[in-house]
Amino acid sequence: MAPYKEQDDQAAFEEFKIALERRMGRKLYRWATVRSCGGCTACCKTHQVTEVGTDAGELCQFAAIGEGCSIYAKRPFECRLYACWWLRGKGEESDRPDRLKVVMDDREVTLNGWVIGVVDLHEVEPGAINQPRVRQLTDAFLQQGAVVCHWFLAPDEAILPGGERYTRAYLLPEGLFTQAEKDLLLATAEK
Ligand code: SF4
Ligand code: SF4
Repeated sequence: MAPYKEQDDQAAFEEFKIALERRMGRKLYRWATVRSCGGCTACCKTHQVTEVGTDAGELCQFAAIGEGCSIYAKRPFECRLYACWWLRGKGEESDRPDRLKVVMDDREVTLNGWVIGVVDLHEVEPGAINQPRVRQLTDAFLQQGAVVCHWFLAPDEAILPGGERYTRAYLLPEGLFTQAEKDLLLATAEK
C-alpha cells in the first residue's frame, strides 16, 4: 500500500468543509493553534463525531488514552477542523483538557441582530465543573460579558431520557440582558 500523504485528501477535505458550512449556515475557521494536543483525547469523548459514529459523551474507539489519536494521520475531517480553547493558546498549561477534565470552546448566537459569545465547558468526567479552577474560569468569562454554558456529563455516562449524555445549564452575565432577551437567548442557544 502506498504511504499515506495528507495532501492526497486535501481536495476531499475542502469539499467536506464547504458542505458542512452550507449545512451549518456559517463559515468554519481553521484556528491558529499554538499548542499541540500531545496525549490529550478529551474532545474525542466530549464531542459528537459523526464520521466515526460517536455521540457527545462517548469515547471514540480510536482514542488511546494518554497517547492521542491512534489514526491521527487519517483522522476524520471533523476532527481536523476542531480546536479547543486550550489548543488555541487560552488558559494555563495545567488547563489541558485531559488534566482539567473539562474541554472549553465557544460558539456564537445571534440575538436581535447582536452576536453573543457563548463559552461552552464540557465535562470529560462527571463533577469536573465543580472544581475551584473551573468556577474561577466561569466567573472570569461572565465578568467579560460572555454567556457560559456548563455541559454536565451524566453519572456513569448513562444515556438520559432524551437520548443524550449531557445536560446543559446556562449562566448569564449580571445586568446585561432583560428577562425577554434572556428567554430568547436561551431558546436560540438551545436550537
Ligand atoms: S481537547 Fe483540545 S487539546 Fe485535547 S485533543 Fe481535543 S483539541 Fe486537542
Ligand atoms: S478519530 Fe481520532 S481525533 Fe477523531 S475523535 Fe477519534 S480519536 Fe479523536
